[in-house]
Amino acid sequence: MSKIGFVGLGIMGGPMAGHLVKAGHDVTGFDLSPTGLEKLKAAGGATAGSAAEAVRDKDIVITMLPQDEHVEAVFADILAHAAPGTLYIDFSSITPKTSIWTATEGAKKQLRVLDAPVSGGEPGAINAALSIMVGGAEADFDTALPIFETVGKTIALVGPNGAGQVVKAANQLVVGGTYALVAEAILLMEGLGADAAAGLDVLAGGLAGSKILELKRKSMLERSFQPGFRIDLHHKDMGIILQAARQAEISIPMGALTAQLIAAARAMGHGSLDHSALLLVAEALAGKGQA
Ligand code: NAD
Repeated sequence: MSKIGFVGLGIMGGPMAGHLVKAGHDVTGFDLSPTGLEKLKAAGGATAGSAAEAVRDKDIVITMLPQDEHVEAVFADILAHAAPGTLYIDFSSITPKTSIWTATEGAKKQLRVLDAPVSGGEPGAINAALSIMVGGAEADFDTALPIFETVGKTIALVGPNGAGQVVKAANQLVVGGTYALVAEAILLMEGLGADAAAGLDVLAGGLAGSKILELKRKSMLERSFQPGFRIDLHHKDMGIILQAARQAEISIPMGALTAQLIAAARAMGHGSLDHSALLLVAEALAGKGQA
């Protein structure tokens, strides 16, 4: 069992840290907000008063933070306070560039670094069923595997440092685009008097079926958009995707359109709703509902 420092105990990090406690690891958590700290305490973990304290003298340090600037801030504490040889796993979804930078800077302090963004949303975190796409060295991946298996089900090493983030960007491209199309399909069925609930059931069982249709068709029809995964975070991910496409020198017109729809959701004030709230944008564009 390992001594683990876990920074970022939000929607995803909270349940993930809880699973590691349950598996018998010695977990010390830190978050700027008291909610995550209280939940970790209730789950049997220890809490620290700062990121520096959480990451000191640990075998493994984990972060699950919103975006690049949060990872950069906490990584400064990791560089300064984590012991040489510590394995650092970043589960956050950030730019490949920042993940590569943490690996390069970490190596100078003998830290072993993996980018390991996840997919599966809040239910995946709660049920320890996440998909985990990992970038880094094979030996470090092998060391981290028991941790990954404690929080996830589908786990793959997809290349060197940064590659996990590239695959996560591809994931978010498909998820965002799928939501946009499911939203339009709902309006189409409702607009022409078809039974949209029965219609989505059929879609879910056919070639159009997807995890999104499986998990979200009911809540979308009910216009229930409690997060889940916030529009604000998907907006951040679309920025990562567009930047990655530019770096790869490829054109992604569907991705660009999806990015604009997500930006519109934010501009309409829906940033803190679940990304399935792309339905509200589709409604506004169709002259229906309230923007
Ligand atoms: P969240 O906002 O619920 O949690 C992030 C936590 O980090 C918050 O509790 C916040 O207080 C804390 N934090 C921020 N800066 C900090 C700092 N300097 N020190 C300590 N704590 C700090 O976000 P989330 O939904 O858990 O997402 C985390 C990451 O996982 C994001 O990169 C997101 O894109 C990704 N992700 C989220 C989901 C999802 O469905 N929510 C799914 C897959 C991936």
